[in-house]
Amino acid sequence: MSSQITPEELSFDANHIWHPYSTTVNRADMFPVTGAEGVYLHLNDGRRVIDGMSSWWCMVHGYNHPEMNQALKQQIDEFSHVMFGGLTHKPAIDLAKKLVAMTPEPIQTVFFADSGSVAVEVAIKMAMQYWIAQDRPEKNKMLTVRGGYYGDTTGGMSICDPDGGMHHWFTGILPQHYFVPRPACGFHEPCEDSHLTELRQFLDLQSHQLAGIIIEPIVQGAGGMHFYSPDYLVRLRQLCDEYDILLIHDEIATGFGRTGKLFACEHANVVPDIMCVGKALTGGYMTMAATLCTEQVSKTISEHGPFMHGPTFMANPLACAAGNASLEILSRGEWQPQLAMIETVLKNELMPCAEMASVSEVRVLGGIGVVELKEPVVMAEIQPLFVEEGVWVRPFGKLVYVMPPYVITPEELKTLCNSICRVLHRVGR
Ligand SMILES: *Cc1c(COP(=O)(O)O)cnc(C)c1O
Repeated sequence: MSSQITPEELSFDANHIWHPYSTTVNRADMFPVTGAEGVYLHLNDGRRVIDGMSSWWCMVHGYNHPEMNQALKQQIDEFSHVMFGGLTHKPAIDLAKKLVAMTPEPIQTVFFADSGSVAVEVAIKMAMQYWIAQDRPEKNKMLTVRGGYYGDTTGGMSICDPDGGMHHWFTGILPQHYFVPRPACGFHEPCEDSHLTELRQFLDLQSHQLAGIIIEPIVQGAGGMHFYSPDYLVRLRQLCDEYDILLIHDEIATGFGRTGKLFACEHANVVPDIMCVGKALTGGYMTMAATLCTEQVSKTISEHGPFMHGPTFMANPLACAAGNASLEILSRGEWQPQLAMIETVLKNELMPCAEMASVSEVRVLGGIGVVELKEPVVMAEIQPLFVEEGVWVRPFGKLVYVMPPYVITPEELKTLCNSICRVLHRVGR
């Protein structure tokens, strides 16, 4: 339907366009997409592949969703963008209302950001301004657990895992923050005092420097696809209260149903002071994220002065319209049985991989399935094999993982899982 991509255009791409974490010389071939429908990506050569990645967590309702398309077309015909300084509009008000209503009750205020990384930067600034407003500017450091991923901008990079992240590329440039070990208690395990020893020791000595503790609740995403105990989140909330530190949850990957709860913090019944959402917020249609906070945080900052952030495309009406349509679809609740089905099928169909010599662990939570290998994959080898199988799976390092669109059928999901097992057999000598 849409236009084909020529070899000449592909070679222009290879020489002139940066892709995520890519070079512009000797680059691996990209797979050209000409369309997308439901859970399928349509490739230039006429093949269609099942998207196991939801385009990096966001495309939860599937591609070309009629209701999403309609909402955006309607908003385009009204207005596509206005500045948000001094002006406001219904798409933003509607979306903020929905976000306040669906998040835990203490969360009352919405800052619209243009990407997940920006939402994290905003969260860090918010935590710092909260303490500046109380005349405690020395509380300007963040603490996090190892194995995290919070985005690619400077603030986000500085709290990503210090070994797996980008610290070694930018030594001396990144702001210095603090790390404790990643939660050692698995999803079904209780959190023991011993899991918190280093954190407690740190807090006893250094909590006066800390503005906040930031963490991805329950699932550490791109930093290693780890799942940990809800109990850990409960203890973290208690420690933040005890030591007078803000708690920030990054729900950019986990939010809007992905872990089987609407927000991952609901596994622990814990409410953060600041919460970042993004990715699935617009059903994958537009780039948008948000930093939400309690009234306590927003009032404390505001009594001292303005909150100092304001992007050009803040609360872009098209993105808000996509967000409103996506949250409307979610509010009908079909995501719950969909996620339950996805979890069951992922467990049944990925588990056989655990028997392979090349596999160290298979784990599943909600709509997330992870096959952890003993050795990193060779991307140039494995990526074409997945496409040959009719699936789009993009591993990183030792992790072959999927988080399919919620609308995937059991049969499509079985195809996806079986393809993973077959490909791992082929490469797993
Ligand atoms: C993807 C992600 C981000 C960054 O979001 P971008 O939109 O890519 O900037 C931050 N935190 C988490 C947990 C993420 O998964």
